[in-house]
Amino acid sequence: TGKFFVGGNWKCNGTKESITKLVSDLNSAKLESDVDVVVAPPFVYLDLVKNSLTHRIDISSQNSWVGKGGAFTGEISVEQLKDIGAKWVILGHSERRHVIGEDDQFIGKKAAYALSEGLGVIACIGELLEEREAGKTFDVCYKQLKAFADAVPSWDNIVIAYEPVWAIGTGKVATPQQAQEVHVAVRDWLKNNVSAEVASKTRIIYGGSVNGGNSAELAKQEDIDGFLVGGASLKGPEFATIVNSVT
Ligand code: 13P
Repeated sequence: TGKFFVGGNWKCNGTKESITKLVSDLNSAKLESDVDVVVAPPFVYLDLVKNSLTHRIDISSQNSWVGKGGAFTGEISVEQLKDIGAKWVILGHSERRHVIGEDDQFIGKKAAYALSEGLGVIACIGELLEEREAGKTFDVCYKQLKAFADAVPSWDNIVIAYEPVWAIGTGKVATPQQAQEVHVAVRDWLKNNVSAEVASKTRIIYGGSVNGGNSAELAKQEDIDGFLVGGASLKGPEFATIVNSVT
């Protein structure tokens, strides 16, 4: 698997003032150079962040329209994201699946379109608490993976984010063993359903209550290739600690 990959998903948080401060904290932080670092600000601040970051940090959006831009009120197109210099888009995040109601097929189409236009995709999967308790974690992840696999022509530009929904924003981080177990299952699924090469090359990152105190233990797991961080990515120094937790 390639470089360790750490994404900061800022979600629907921040103001011009707080985001300017966050960027300035990131600019003064020391970041391990051998890590791919990506931040995903809200759309309205993408340009501001892109233009004020001094580190080599790539910009991601948190969503994109499913096809070419046009008469789609309230949407943001992949073409526009490329225009402002975004390199990635987060798709299939649990908040979009479960709060907004996006389904597997729609998410798959979005991924295919974003990839076809040259954006990288951070493809999110993960089970609800009741699904885990019912022993369906792998099935849920496989179904979500399959929807991506059915839609995309290539996995070259995809990072998979395993984010168990019960761990997101709850302070209830998955144990390193719980995360590792699912990451192995995801890799096996890729091997059996896509190819051995894709399975060994694709980065599988973990998200859900990652913070500066738990990231190092998680990062030690063989199949955890990085993180997608929510709340803790809003604090520059803590996000830097997470970036630097790679061993
Ligand atoms: P938290 O780190 O706030 O749990 O959020 C994780 C997440 O959803 C990242 O996309």
